[in-house]
Amino acid sequence: MEQIKVSLSEEDIPRKWYNLAADLKGLQPPLTPDGKPVSPQMLEKVFPMNLIEQEVSRERWVDIPLEILKILYRWRPTPLRRARYLEEYLKTPARIYYKDESVSPPGSHKPNTAVPQAWYNKQFGIKRLTTETGAGQWGSALAFACNLLGLECKVFMVKVSYEQKPLRKIMMELWGAKCVPSPSPDTEAGRQILKKMPDCPGSLGIAISEAIEEAVNDKTGKTRYSLGSVLNHVLLHQTIIGLEAKKQLKLFGEKRPDIVIGCIGGGSNFAGLSFPFVYDKINGEKIRIIPVEPTACPSVTKGPFAYDYGDTACLTPLLPMFTLGHNFVPPPIHAGGLRYHGMAPLVSQAVIEGLLEPRAYNQLKCFESALIWAKTEGFIPAPETSHAIACVIDEAKKAKEEGKEKVILFNYSGHGLMDLLGFEKYLTGQLSDYSLPDEELKRSLEAIKDLPKPKV
Ligand SMILES: *Cc1c(COP(=O)(O)O)cnc(C)c1O
Repeated sequence: MEQIKVSLSEEDIPRKWYNLAADLKGLQPPLTPDGKPVSPQMLEKVFPMNLIEQEVSRERWVDIPLEILKILYRWRPTPLRRARYLEEYLKTPARIYYKDESVSPPGSHKPNTAVPQAWYNKQFGIKRLTTETGAGQWGSALAFACNLLGLECKVFMVKVSYEQKPLRKIMMELWGAKCVPSPSPDTEAGRQILKKMPDCPGSLGIAISEAIEEAVNDKTGKTRYSLGSVLNHVLLHQTIIGLEAKKQLKLFGEKRPDIVIGCIGGGSNFAGLSFPFVYDKINGEKIRIIPVEPTACPSVTKGPFAYDYGDTACLTPLLPMFTLGHNFVPPPIHAGGLRYHGMAPLVSQAVIEGLLEPRAYNQLKCFESALIWAKTEGFIPAPETSHAIACVIDEAKKAKEEGKEKVILFNYSGHGLMDLLGFEKYLTGQLSDYSLPDEELKRSLEAIKDLPKPKV
């Protein structure tokens, strides 16, 4: 029998995370609104100090505490699978491998950082976490992690997703978290927006503002905020994906991938798979590395590289990143997890340094690709993941035209079993494509024109 999946044993799990911040040349610090570098102390009401230390660390390798590994063992190491049936369908000479992050209890890569974040917060004496969620994957991942570690959890869920995807809310509740639609009347940030725009569909930027506000306003000092993507420490925790995949590719007999692909919302699952390969690329390997975003929310392919806030109410420090402007409210496309206005500073800087080749795809092409996947491989992917699949199919077709045996590796960031209503809309012809008009982008970028500018 030909091998179509490689599992690792518990002993083979990576013991350290890889920190790309050690290897980028021009990474710039977060700034205060008046242009000064942010000190760790300024963040201490928002995050626990042990995670702030990780956020600013420039160490290349960071030990994973054994207690965290013990929790990750519930589903890690995850399988690396070969998409043999898709290859046959496409008649491509490419060999397509995918890291299956859909096997975690919440169904995506997100618990890879939810568990360490909850653990470090608990170590620091924190009792309660607040957070935002888009499609609900992050909220359910943090609810899952907080439940295992005995922390309280409150989730502000982007309203359009709260309405489109009620099942995720139920998951959060069954793991003991509280979930409210955002904008909500629970915070000043939410009340302000509801006053101006009662039907606001919400955005990750708004939900982040609400979650931070609620954390820093807790007088007991025992609440902190947790972010599911974008920040350095989040991407660090996700690198366990790529480090496992490297070992597994070797077991498949592959020396290296030619192409590495992942979808990007805030950048974490893509970074998790790709950064260990970006390290190889920096050290001379020839690898093409492609982040894929939706044309409806094209921060990297259309936005400028600029300092911008991570949230709508401007509560976060200024981050150097590709951005559509912190007030940007993306159209309600079904890949809810890809509707963020900015991009992780580490991913952004890797683009600036010429290490990545970003691309954008339309919603319909992504759903079409998801369907091809479901009909060949059998698994139903998350709409976010389908962006990576669309790119994989394009690259596999190109390999066929060129007659080349390429090795394509991508991150299967999550399953779509909670997103079936989106698939129903696609199947009944109710979805359309959307590309962000230049005019709208220009308007949205007005909000950042007076902020400090990063060096390029
Ligand atoms: C959240 C999510 C994403 C997007 O977030 P990143 O931080 O960019 O990874 C992609 N896929 C799935 C399944 C998700 O849950």
